[in-house]
Amino acid sequence: MSDFDCDLFVVGGGSGGVRAARMAGQRGARVMLAEAAALGGTCVNVGCIPKKLYSYAAQFAQDFEDAAGYGWDLQPARFDWRRLKANRAREIARLNGVYEHLLRTAGVELLRGWATLCDPHTVQVASAEGPRRWRARHILVATGGTPSVPHFPGREHVLTSDSMFDLEPFPRRLVVVGGGYIACEFASIFHGLGAQVTQLYRGEQVLRGFDDDVRAFLAQEVRRHGVDLRLRSDVAAIARDGDALAVTLAGGEVLPADAVLYATGRVPNVAGLGLDAAGVRLSAHGGIVVDDSYRSSVPSVLAVGDVTARLQLTPVALAEAMVVVDQLFGEGRRAMSYELVPTAVFTHPAIGTVGLTEQQARERHGQVRIFRTDFRALKNTLSGNPERTLMKLVVDAASDRVVGLHMVGPDAGEIVQGFAVAMKAGATKAVFDGTIGIHPSAAEEFVTLR
Ligand code: FAD
Ligand code: NDP
Repeated sequence: MSDFDCDLFVVGGGSGGVRAARMAGQRGARVMLAEAAALGGTCVNVGCIPKKLYSYAAQFAQDFEDAAGYGWDLQPARFDWRRLKANRAREIARLNGVYEHLLRTAGVELLRGWATLCDPHTVQVASAEGPRRWRARHILVATGGTPSVPHFPGREHVLTSDSMFDLEPFPRRLVVVGGGYIACEFASIFHGLGAQVTQLYRGEQVLRGFDDDVRAFLAQEVRRHGVDLRLRSDVAAIARDGDALAVTLAGGEVLPADAVLYATGRVPNVAGLGLDAAGVRLSAHGGIVVDDSYRSSVPSVLAVGDVTARLQLTPVALAEAMVVVDQLFGEGRRAMSYELVPTAVFTHPAIGTVGLTEQQARERHGQVRIFRTDFRALKNTLSGNPERTLMKLVVDAASDRVVGLHMVGPDAGEIVQGFAVAMKAGATKAVFDGTIGIHPSAAEEFVTLR
């Protein structure tokens, strides 16, 4: 008989934790999972899913305008923020239930409460009935991350993405601080829903790490849509001014705002987890240090997802969880590749990207060939919408392999996913050239670039 209450104890029921628990349960392992808040974690409750639903909501504003050129006369459209919030909440509650059902049908024992590691094999869960300890052969920490806001005068007045989904009332004037995924996405969303949005970014161009053409093109297009994007712009202080907020910039200008969103990065959830007691080592970024088997400095404690402070994307957390389950309860070792991870930024217009930026490709491969086009999509001819689309291929000159593919335009995420498969399979520019396009589509441009 085993001394352990379970084979795997998962701390955190978000993207990575639920996937690992469910797959391990399906393979016959005895699994327990502790979740302190809502099942589904960041992605389901305050991340990918509600964000994408709000992004769809925001897109309608443009679609209504575009419809006129196609012969449609619409009543002036009215937007009901409370209805959107209520419908979103209902859908998220449904998903929470789906997650619970998936775990239960996989035989996972679900514990509601905050979990703490007591030693390399013991987890304590503080639930309504009081604390209780469990012994586990393996412990998987999948506790995700949390928004981080810098210290400055007036910090107490700002919001993070966690509270944007239920904000009341709808902010007429929104200031967004940051230039990453969340800042850019929320600037587009709230602009589309009718807010007057000012986005402040401290650096030269938003979305550091993306291809420079993509960054400049996105900035141009979101400005064209009406987001007041200000670069090299820092906040000095924020103060309450009656019912509103006064945002003082480093240069002295004061912006009035109904709400201020700080989207200045996320930090791993490691506080209060008892990692010290278990002897788990953290990196300089505060994430749990893991090897390529996701084992921490303590062999019985593993970690996946945002708590490792690496690529913070749901499909990455899911893939890491699958590797852990394969290693512990499956066929054995299988490493995960972090090359060619596609990603989208759901701005308006959206970004889709996979592989190397032009600059990274030059550093890695030396000689590269660049193919780039920007155009007004067919749909925008009758609508009169001036929005443009950018497509760019980065090709390693020596091997002819397409090593970077970037797009800014409608459905970029949908389009780039398929091309990522081709690139994973090693597609060369000649293969792209030999592929017949789908006409008329925007995606065909990727196979007709010469
Ligand atoms: P999480 O999903 O954060 O789950 C961690 C869970 O652990 C939480 O439920 C938490 O309550 C629980 N927990 C923490 N500590 C304890 C404890 N001690 N005891 C018990 N439970 C605990 N990624 C994409 O790929 N596409 C997107 O479009 C996208 N949009 C995003 C939008 C926003 C606004 C944000 C914030 C993130 C977005 N992400 C997106 C990132 C994505 O949500 C994360 O990468 C993903 O959720 C990470 O999964 P995880 O399992 O590591 O952690
Ligand atoms: P990011 O790390 O992407 O961006 C943080 C931004 O805040 C950067 O522009 C950074 O500037 C800026 N910043 C950092 N510190 C300060 C400061 N003290 N003052 C002013 N600005 C500051 O984090 P996000 O919060 O946007 O998102 C977290 C992660 O969640 C993303 O990296 C992504 O992995 C994931 N995510 C994925 C989405 C998707 O897949 N569509 C959507 C949303 C989130 P600088 O560049 O100069 O450092």
